[in-house]
Amino acid sequence: MIIVLKKDATETDLKHIVETVREWGFNTSVSQGVERTVIGIIGDESLLRGKPLEIFPGVESVLRVLKPYKLASSEFHADRTRVLVPAVVEGEAPAEIGGREITVIAGPCSVETREMLFEMAEFVKKNGAKILRAGAFKPRTSPYSFQGLGEEALKYLSEVRKEVGIPIITEVMDTKDVEKVAEVADVLQIGARNMQNFNLLRAVGRIDKPVLIKRGLSATLEELLMSAEYVLSEGNNKVILCERGIRTFETFTRNTVDISAVPVIKRESHLPVMVDPSHGTGHWDLVTPMACAAVAAGADGIIVELHPRPEEALSDGPQALLPKRFAALMEQIGSVARAMGRSV
Ligand code: PEP
Ligand code: MN
Repeated sequence: MIIVLKKDATETDLKHIVETVREWGFNTSVSQGVERTVIGIIGDESLLRGKPLEIFPGVESVLRVLKPYKLASSEFHADRTRVLVPAVVEGEAPAEIGGREITVIAGPCSVETREMLFEMAEFVKKNGAKILRAGAFKPRTSPYSFQGLGEEALKYLSEVRKEVGIPIITEVMDTKDVEKVAEVADVLQIGARNMQNFNLLRAVGRIDKPVLIKRGLSATLEELLMSAEYVLSEGNNKVILCERGIRTFETFTRNTVDISAVPVIKRESHLPVMVDPSHGTGHWDLVTPMACAAVAAGADGIIVELHPRPEEALSDGPQALLPKRFAALMEQIGSVARAMGRSV
């Protein structure tokens, strides 16, 4: 850690800081320049967390050298994490998120009817998706919008999982539902609006199922990595991060997909990263281009929404791909994946 003193800091200010830091068990190295005095603190920086050095008299700024995330950091984990989602059908290969293959997760925004869920599950499986997505509990901006079928949807998800033979990802919104959702889901989704629901993060950290954390609407990547840290610190190391678009001033799109999140997370962390171009853009015609961009940027997978009749969808119809367009997306990301030395 480095402490930069104000231009007008006194010798007494300097002495006070050095003595205090030494009392805490650290060594110091003081460099007195013409313009500024800088104090280097030598020792385990993590032990200084929570010490209010910024408010000491004479201090201008405090620069922390270490990243606040540890378990999520590539510095602490040399190998890349691969999250395995076991196949439902015996003999089929598990989905591996973070390996050479690009994992595609697809399905409707919400479970609307049993029939539609089965139709979409069969379609996405036939067209190369490894995991089916569909919301049972929906985090809607308005309390008057469709809130999801809840437990009825969990029942359909459990049936479709077994009968079609495809692993399921679905969102858990409440700590009280974690066990119930984990009984059905192969992967638990933490939605963007719950990215900093720390009790929920801890709760999914205590179960033995992969967790996909979506980036909050206005969250920095450091905050996303800290959310992963919550899950990891409870002992669950099967964490997947997901860029799903952030709030910007742009209005042509629902959100702005931060493609640079992919290489940044890959540099900062060993965890796999996926992109959701559906919520990221909000418009079906932008989904395939952004899916291709995500794969080109090094994403380990994409998560997309589709619907047999988008105009009738109970949620997120404007961003839903028609099934035939999903099939075309699979072709296109296949070409990009091959160019990147990967496969779909
Ligand atoms: C979803 O994937 O169903 C969803 C609600 O996404 P987000 O949390 O990213 O808005
Ligand atoms: Mn949706």
